Amino acid sequence: MGTCWEIESAEFQAESSRVTEFADKAFLRAQHFLGEPRWPVNRVALKYQPNRQPETVPLDRQQGSFRICIGVIPSDHRFNGQLGHEVGHLLNPDLRDWYVEGLTNVFAVTLLDSREQKQWQDYFESDLRSKEDPYGVTYLMMREICEATEDEHIRGILRHRRPGCGRWEALDTNGWLKELPSQIREKVRDILAGHGQELERAVQACSSTYPGFSFNLPHGATV
Ligand SMILES: [Zn+2]
Repeated sequence: MGTCWEIESAEFQAESSRVTEFADKAFLRAQHFLGEPRWPVNRVALKYQPNRQPETVPLDRQQGSFRICIGVIPSDHRFNGQLGHEVGHLLNPDLRDWYVEGLTNVFAVTLLDSREQKQWQDYFESDLRSKEDPYGVTYLMMREICEATEDEHIRGILRHRRPGCGRWEALDTNGWLKELPSQIREKVRDILAGHGQELERAVQACSSTYPGFSFNLPHGATV
């Protein structure tokens, strides 16, 4: 059975079929990229929520009911990227982790056309990185990690969970690394060592902007 996408805000109504088709396609591709969702995903409400961080909120996990809040309207050039990113979070909305944030942005880029991709990449690689916002460096780091590994290594990554901040979960990167072939594991460790310090600094500087997000360098990747 497919997922039912429900438009909850009048601001999305005029483009409702384009928006729900995009979300549906994105969700199929997210599962191909990152594996099965932790909870069934039966019904997803799509809501306009300006002036706030976009988010994916579980309404009833057992029933597979969720809400995705997007900060811009569908005609805005950021809409597809934001929606694609949040659809990535549907695979496990309880994970609050900087590795996952980077990964869902690497995924979201694959859904965009070439003009949108250029805007998106410039935004992360130049704007956010120069502001020392963790979204900039984690995007770059996870893109390098995806390039250094095979699709099958990324597909199982969200299964590796550990308790995170408060009620949230985080990624168990040690558990994931252990599963990788040794040559690839070394490549990933090098990438983590190369970006870890910058990411750690940015995470600390922005902890009040992004509360509850975990970031831990795995054993052997200290910088
Ligand atoms: Zn996110």
